[in-house]
Amino acid sequence: MAEVCVVGAGPAGSVFAARMAQLGHQVRLIEQARFPRSRLGESLSPGVEPLLKSARLETALDARGVTRVRNVWVHWADGMRLREDPREQGLIVDRGAFDLGLVEGARSHGVKVLQPARVVDRRQYGGRWLLTLDVEERRETVEADFLAEAGGRSAASGRPRIQTGAATLAVHAYWRGARLPATPRIEAGEEAWFWGVPLPNGTYNVLAFVDPKAFRGARGALEQRFLERLAGSLVLEACRESGRIGPVQAIDATPYLASDCVGANAIRLGDAALAIDPISSSGVQKAIQSALSGAVVANTLLRRPDAADLAILFYRAQLSDASERHRRWAADHYGTVAANRGGQFWTERSQGREAAESAPTHEPIDARAMAGMSVELSPEAAIVETPCLDGEFVGVAPALRHPRLETPVAYLGGRALAPLLEDLPKGRTPLQIARAWSNRMPLDSGLAIAGWLVNHGVLVRTAESGGGRPC
Ligand SMILES: Cc1cc2nc3c(=O)[nH]c(=O)nc-3n(C[C@H](O)[C@H](O)[C@H](O)COP(=O)(O)OP(=O)(O)OC[C@H]3O[C@@H](n4cnc5c(N)ncnc54)[C@H](O)[C@@H]3O)c2cc1C
Repeated sequence: MAEVCVVGAGPAGSVFAARMAQLGHQVRLIEQARFPRSRLGESLSPGVEPLLKSARLETALDARGVTRVRNVWVHWADGMRLREDPREQGLIVDRGAFDLGLVEGARSHGVKVLQPARVVDRRQYGGRWLLTLDVEERRETVEADFLAEAGGRSAASGRPRIQTGAATLAVHAYWRGARLPATPRIEAGEEAWFWGVPLPNGTYNVLAFVDPKAFRGARGALEQRFLERLAGSLVLEACRESGRIGPVQAIDATPYLASDCVGANAIRLGDAALAIDPISSSGVQKAIQSALSGAVVANTLLRRPDAADLAILFYRAQLSDASERHRRWAADHYGTVAANRGGQFWTERSQGREAAESAPTHEPIDARAMAGMSVELSPEAAIVETPCLDGEFVGVAPALRHPRLETPVAYLGGRALAPLLEDLPKGRTPLQIARAWSNRMPLDSGLAIAGWLVNHGVLVRTAESGGGRPC
């Protein structure tokens, strides 16, 4: 049984620690702060809940301190609109309660928690790690076979990393009062964007995302510059009848990707490895995803050293794909404002968008059009061996590669794709193809997969009905 030390008990550290304990390792989770402690990252994207369920940590979302989000006011490039999600999949949490719930969850899975304890030094000798900790007034050492760095942004600063978007500073403060809005707001300002988040404890977090140079170059105290930036915004207007509590704080929000995210006996997780632009409000989801796949990678490194290269390759590719996907998404999102009103703040953040715009776009094909269309496998589709998660280890699986897919896809809806594409006869409709797969899956699932393949240009019209062109 390997000894594993995890530094930092944010979402990445706690989820990784719990998974490693479930995989049979002896795990220590070391956290410097006493919990509950406050933290930004209170809006959780829809993927968080299913990921926590998969790790058996969903109790962190116990009703206290969680609000389900149905509506968000969005005042972006095209005026004000109410974005509605009837399924209420997004959540707003009290990060103090949420992170504490995750640590308790990790402990219930057998993780030993050292808290408060700050890791002040880590070094290797004889293939093992020796960590020095400040615990209260004492200095202690612990040893480990494997080290997971999950200390958040502070663990990534001063380390080799690639900045993946414009430098950004988040300046924020909390408001309290009886008439605060119950609906979150996102707003594009002059040279900044604003976010108003009603928290489960009745306070309201107001954030301004600004260019650090321009903001620091302005005159006045932090508080004054913050309020000046927000002047005239709908987010601040909503707080008119309430009072600010606590100080104005500034925190770096620049996205980056660490260069050294994994080695034979160490891994970096969450913000210690990858920070995405906060506009997507999915930093916590990304942190949990890196923890879950990171646990499989670490398990492979510890138990199947002969597959170490594969596991390392897999983890690096996963992080850099995620970073690139988010970079492009954010550039696109900022680009809609840049196209509308220009301005250095918006133009700088939409860099890289031109490339996305010049890529060929394809209108999705609706179900009715698909019904009468006979298709075949695109000549550009190929099956390639790709590293992927295979239960508790990283393995290789045949995956579909196609120019319109960002990465090779081995599984779709939990089903291996390659066997479905073998010997696919020409000239059948997506419905006939789904029927041919009906001995392997329900018709609905087959239709969903066939539809996805058509809409991604993997299944194209047969030569007779359209010349083998992408649909
Ligand atoms: C302005 C801003 C707004 C954001 N808003 C959102 C949002 O709305 N939604 C969202 O999903 N994400 C958001 N994010 C991103 C989100 O906050 C992070 O992605 C997420 O918290 C990362 O989790 P983590 O576990 O990697 O790190 P963290 O949550 O930062 O946890 C790291 C932990 O490590 C501990 N630690 C550090 N060093 C040591 C040490 N030496 N010894 C012991 N312990 C240590 C720290 O005390 C801390 O508890 C936002 C980020 C910013 C900057």
